[in-house]
Amino acid sequence: MNISSSLTRINRLIQAAAIHAGRDPAAVRLVAVSKTRPAADIVEAFHSGQTVFGENYIQELLPKLTEVSEAVEWHVIGHLQSNKVRYIAGQVALIHSVDRISLATEIDRQWGKLGKICDILVQVNISGEAAKSGTTEEGAIQLVRECALLPHIRVRGLMTMPPFFDDPETARPFFAGLRQLSEIIAAHNISGVEMVELSMGMTGDFEAAIQEGATLVRIGTAIFGNR
Ligand SMILES: *Cc1c(COP(=O)(O)O)cnc(C)c1O
Repeated sequence: MNISSSLTRINRLIQAAAIHAGRDPAAVRLVAVSKTRPAADIVEAFHSGQTVFGENYIQELLPKLTEVSEAVEWHVIGHLQSNKVRYIAGQVALIHSVDRISLATEIDRQWGKLGKICDILVQVNISGEAAKSGTTEEGAIQLVRECALLPHIRVRGLMTMPPFFDDPETARPFFAGLRQLSEIIAAHNISGVEMVELSMGMTGDFEAAIQEGATLVRIGTAIFGNR
């Protein structure tokens, strides 16, 4: 399958999952995960109607920022080192993977130099697995509070990456857990914080994630093929 027909298929599945869950399909956005893919694939996807692209590695994102001249919206979805933040300041629309205050502080500093505000999500390790990055559930509330004090950061919600399971139903409780945590944080009414985004769901489990409230699904393999 080519990129265009894969996108058509995925968008239909996203729409069907949203409707099945009684949700507005327009409330779910597709982040096309283009890691390891050449700029030409991104351009092709863009011309098939896809506007949002997620990258994991800054060293891979940087050349693409210049190679892709189309007006794509870039998201950072992978683990981010603080010393890389300055290279992407002002150039990405959303960072999904903020998991510690030192990183948030550096984002605030770099966006602040430009007089801009960076939208971020707090990444939560909802499964509690040692190998996964993200804050603990308790740590997430604290981190959101600390981020709320930074003038050039705007917290928009939460992101998670559950452990890999063959059965998406096994991932579902983690998606539900992230939604519940988001509701708990929203109930704290922290000034400047809007818990409106839930970034969860990948190629193998995005339909379950949408049923549990995902607003951003991060899909790579089903669009671009195996990496
Ligand atoms: C690679 C990646 C994805 C996409 O995974 P697929 O299974 O290829 O859809 C989503 N989120 C993150 C954080 C990733 O690193």
